[in-house]
Amino acid sequence: MATLEIKDLHAEVDTEEGSKEILTGVNLTVRSGEIHAFMGPNGSGKSTLAYAVAGHPKYRVTSGSVLLDGEEVLEMSVDERARAGLFLAMQYPVEVPGVSMSNFLRSAATATRGEAPQVRHWVKEVKQAMSDLEIDESFSERSVNEGFSGGEKKRHEILQLDLLKPKFAILDETDSGLDVDALRVVSDGINRYTESGDKGVLLITHYTRILKHIKPDYVHVFVKGQVAESGGPELADELEESGYVRFTEKKEAAA
Ligand code: ADP
Ligand code: MG
Ligand code: MG
Repeated sequence: MATLEIKDLHAEVDTEEGSKEILTGVNLTVRSGEIHAFMGPNGSGKSTLAYAVAGHPKYRVTSGSVLLDGEEVLEMSVDERARAGLFLAMQYPVEVPGVSMSNFLRSAATATRGEAPQVRHWVKEVKQAMSDLEIDESFSERSVNEGFSGGEKKRHEILQLDLLKPKFAILDETDSGLDVDALRVVSDGINRYTESGDKGVLLITHYTRILKHIKPDYVHVFVKGQVAESGGPELADELEESGYVRFTEKKEAAA
């Protein structure tokens, strides 16, 4: 059993007016086998949390910690984070011109598994995963994310998830910009990934619609850089009904 523990995390970002605190004390624990939906209005700091955990240089952690099985993630290099079993799918995946998808996937698999996958096995694995995600084979030779549509980028994130099988995945708005069919394909991919029952997922989203396909064990409402409330799936139903108003008002009253 693995645990990802975020403890009293504070982080700031550099803006033109100076640095601004975005994460104001995030506490959250995800254990293997659990799916957590992490929901909050636009601008609440969801992506900042993902970037801070990923080690993006623009998002400075000022205090708190992120522990993966007791090891401080914030002290790891980006590569070490991946090798430790942490996967981060960003809201806006980067394009890498000149690096083909197939080379990229193979290097990523080699890095996370600690050895190069056997060619014949690997080719089969990739083919199967691409077919499951309804990705055309021609994408293998294309540069990573270059010129991909929003939906194609999201499918490729899930392709990585499927092939790398990390212990923990933080998925930032994997559902945004997807049409109904793509949403189903991507959700099915995430469900396949969690099938083994030993993966932990933090599913960041501001829409409840992906939760029709992926059943979370826990739902967190994130407001102004903090978890305002945690509960079960019923919390997502409430958001679907009444939105974030109750939570944002509560935060304002407390401020
Ligand atoms: P969410 O993902 O919940 O929509 P973000 O984490 O993207 O929220 O943003 C939280 C707040 O931090 C917003 O007010 C946003 O404008 C600000 N912010 C995030 N990144 C930057 C940046 N690189 N420069 C300036 N402000 C930023
Ligand atoms: Mg957003
Ligand atoms: Mg965001």
